[in-house]
Amino acid sequence: MAVYRDLREIVMARITITTKFHNPSRARRREWQRATHLYAETKQSLIDGWVNGELEQSITTASIENDLYAVIQSQAIREAKAEYSKDGAIEYSSSLPFGINNQNWKIDVTENGTVVLGFPCISQWWYTPITVYEEIEDVVNGLLAGDMKKSLLQVYRRGAEWFCAFTVLHEAPSGGKTLIGVDIGERHILAAAAPDKGESLLVSGKEMKYIRRKYRSLRESLQEAGALRALNRMGKKEQRRVTHLNHTLSRRLVEFADQFDEPLIRIEDLGEIRERCPWSGVHSWPFGQLQRFIIYKAAKQGITVEKVDPSYTSQRCSVCGASGTRSGDHFRCPDCGRGRHADLNAAENIATREGEPCTT
Ligand SMILES: [Zn+2]
Repeated sequence: MAVYRDLREIVMARITITTKFHNPSRARRREWQRATHLYAETKQSLIDGWVNGELEQSITTASIENDLYAVIQSQAIREAKAEYSKDGAIEYSSSLPFGINNQNWKIDVTENGTVVLGFPCISQWWYTPITVYEEIEDVVNGLLAGDMKKSLLQVYRRGAEWFCAFTVLHEAPSGGKTLIGVDIGERHILAAAAPDKGESLLVSGKEMKYIRRKYRSLRESLQEAGALRALNRMGKKEQRRVTHLNHTLSRRLVEFADQFDEPLIRIEDLGEIRERCPWSGVHSWPFGQLQRFIIYKAAKQGITVEKVDPSYTSQRCSVCGASGTRSGDHFRCPDCGRGRHADLNAAENIATREGEPCTT
C-alpha cells in the first residue's frame, strides 16, 4: 500500500512563558513602577478621549506627552484601539502590565551564562536577569539560538516581585497527526478546530443552559417548600438529561475528529481550576463530565486526547500570538489584523499547544 504523507507536517506551536525577574535594582523597579502607571494612564486617556470625542482615532505617539519610550506608547495605543472598538467606556486597573512588541525587546545571555531580557522603559534600555526554571529552559535556549520567534512582552508587578510574560512561536512537527483543538464553554458548549485542515465544528450552548436553568428554578422552589424527596428526584432527572446531552455532544466531536487522518484531540486541562471554583461556569460538573466522555469515546475509537495548559487560550491570536480582544463572539487581533470567531480562535490555540496524554 502506498504511504500517503501529508505535506503540512509542520505546525506553528505556541508556548506562553511567565517568569520572574531576578533581583532588579531599586532604580529599575522604581522606573518600571512609573512605566506601569504611565501605561495605564495613557490607555485610559485614549479611551476617555475617544469616548467623549476629544481625540482622533488616528492618534500617534507624537501627540502623547509622557516619558515612556515611543515603542511602549505605540503598544498602549494599539491595545487601547483594539479594546475601545469593543464596548466604549473602560476602566483600567493600575496593575495592568505594560507591553513591548516583539521587535523592541531582546533576550540575551551574558558572558557568565545569565539570561537577560532587554527592553526600553523610560530613561534607557535595561538588561535584567530572569529566572530560568527547568520547564522553560528549552524554550529559552530555542529563543537564544534563533529557532523560535518571540511575540509581545508584558511586564508587571505582583506583590514585591516583578514578572514578565511572553509568547514564543516555534515550528513543531505534528508527527503527521491532524491536530484538533476543543474549547468547552458556556456560549458554545463545543468549539473544535483542525487549523491545518481549515475545518471546524461549533455547537451552541443553549440546550445545556436551558436544562440547567430549568432545573435550577425547580430546585429552588422545592427547596423553599422543604420537599426533600422531590428535590432528590429532580436532581436525578437533571443529571440524566445532562448526561444524555453530553453523550450526544461527545459522539459528535469524536465523529468530527474521526474524518481526518491520524487525529489528535487536545482539550484544556481544567483540573486545577475546577478545585478552586467547583460550581460555576465551565468548571461545573456537566462540563467535567463532557470532557470525560470525550476522552473515553475517543479512546474507544483509538484517538489520543491530550490536555493542555489553559492559560490565555482565548486572549491570544492563534496566528501571531499577540493579545487580542473579544467582542461578543468575535475575536480581533490588533497586531496582525486577524478576525475570527472567538471560540474557534481559542480552539486553534488549544490545537497547537503541546499537551500531556489524558488517561481515562
Ligand atoms: Zn494576530
